[in-house]
Amino acid sequence: MADLTKHYGEVVAVAGIDLEIRQGEFFTMLGPSGSGKTTTLRMIAGFEDPSSGTVELAGRNVGGIPPYDRAVNTVFQDYALFPHMTVSENVAYGLRVAGVAKGERARRGEEALEMVRLPGYGDRKPAELSGGQRQRVALARAIVNRPKVLLLDEPLGALDLKLREQMQAELKSIQGEVGITFVYVTHDQDEALTMSDRIAVFNEGVIEQVSSPFKLYEEPATEFVAGFVGVSNVLERDGARFTIRPEKIQLVENGAAPDGVHTERGRIAEIAYVGMVTRYTVSLDAGGKVELIRQNTESAAEDVGSMRGKEVVVGWRPEHAVAVRDGTTNEEGSP
Ligand code: ADP
Ligand code: MG
Repeated sequence: MADLTKHYGEVVAVAGIDLEIRQGEFFTMLGPSGSGKTTTLRMIAGFEDPSSGTVELAGRNVGGIPPYDRAVNTVFQDYALFPHMTVSENVAYGLRVAGVAKGERARRGEEALEMVRLPGYGDRKPAELSGGQRQRVALARAIVNRPKVLLLDEPLGALDLKLREQMQAELKSIQGEVGITFVYVTHDQDEALTMSDRIAVFNEGVIEQVSSPFKLYEEPATEFVAGFVGVSNVLERDGARFTIRPEKIQLVENGAAPDGVHTERGRIAEIAYVGMVTRYTVSLDAGGKVELIRQNTESAAEDVGSMRGKEVVVGWRPEHAVAVRDGTTNEEGSP
């Protein structure tokens, strides 16, 4: 994709993005609602024409080529299976339209069902399946004709958390097995971090950062990324802005910080016991607030409420303070 834009009248849905997705990778577009992810996906699929810029698939400019002539399939959140058809018929539908012979259709349909861990479900109707199983049928239908690229737009959005987490792991391993490039859209940062080889963070029609999950979390490039993928914890000291992840900040007991740890004084503004950890928000004397978490390994204070307002010293290693840019957009309302 090169300098891709899409306008709807006054609305700029996609404001000039450059992106190169590698063959065989699990690539995720992550961003809040309205940031331009679906529009970008629809331009790759060919459902939407760019206002300007180009999309290439396998080195070929696909401008003007209709969706069915691109080696791309799409899986949507509302998987839209045909209710009157069996699972097999649903999966093999595209093959039938393409004129593939009956025996071949059945063989490849069953193979696709095996890939999505639903062997033997071919004779059921969609209504006889659970939500997760239906989503797998939609996936089988999308991979049965072996596209080069599979586009997935919030495919797990309708599932409850437990099932979603299970499907995340399965989708990832299915992708590895079939070797198809996945371009995955989600607004859920945990989902993006667990599944992806690389992630592009969208904000108001532009991409703020493209990197591996590890780098995205450990070295967010902008304030927006720091806040969207985790807790922002942005501080300004001597004109420089930086962010520190909550788990990198320690509460220093008795004023004795280990060597090399930068310390600051502050006051506990908020505190919450959340089972595995206790979460503190500390207002710093030098300005700004940080959130930090402490594992409740030894013992947790039972009456956390009484600690509000208490003076504390917090510390972090200088290498964990990561410089951030302002980002590509105006962020009104940020401190
Ligand atoms: P996302 O998928 O990240 O939630 P979208 O790509 O759907 O975001 O939308 C990006 C922006 O474009 C939003 O402001 C949305 O309202 C607008 N938009 C999307 N599709 C249309 C359309 N068909 N007509 C007008 N505006 C649209
Ligand atoms: Mg969307």
